[in-house]
Amino acid sequence: MDCIFCKIAKNEIASDAVYEDGVLRVVKDIHPKAPVHLLVIPKIHIQSVDQLEEIHNDLIAQLIHAAKNTARSQGLSGYKLVFNVGRGGGQVIDHLHLHILGGWKNDQEKTLNV
Ligand code: 5GP
Ligand code: ZN
Repeated sequence: MDCIFCKIAKNEIASDAVYEDGVLRVVKDIHPKAPVHLLVIPKIHIQSVDQLEEIHNDLIAQLIHAAKNTARSQGLSGYKLVFNVGRGGGQVIDHLHLHILGGWKNDQEKTLNV
């Protein structure tokens, strides 16, 4: 399967990673929509939240924990976590990923479309 996020998650093509473990990789978004915009990408291919099943419950917990820990290590005091689901939800890359968005100054606009 020719999936760009499979390749990024497995470090087969270059990306700016800030965290990695056996299950997932956290990389900087190539077109950031916030001062800090990171993507938590699992190493296994799942198309989207819509394809999740009960066997993936541990994986989802790991994605969220990695997001929390990375946000903390990046010094974010608050942030948004976003899953876009399907074209109707703005999903462009058909490999599950969790957006971490933050780093706004107090007076900056925090409403956005990722
Ligand atoms: P989606 O709309 O599918 O939820 O989000 C896909 C995200 O992946 C977008 O924010 C887009 O900027 C980002 N993106 C697309 N291609 C690449 C890439 O090759 N490398 C990285 N780091 N981010 C990418
Ligand atoms: Zn994939």
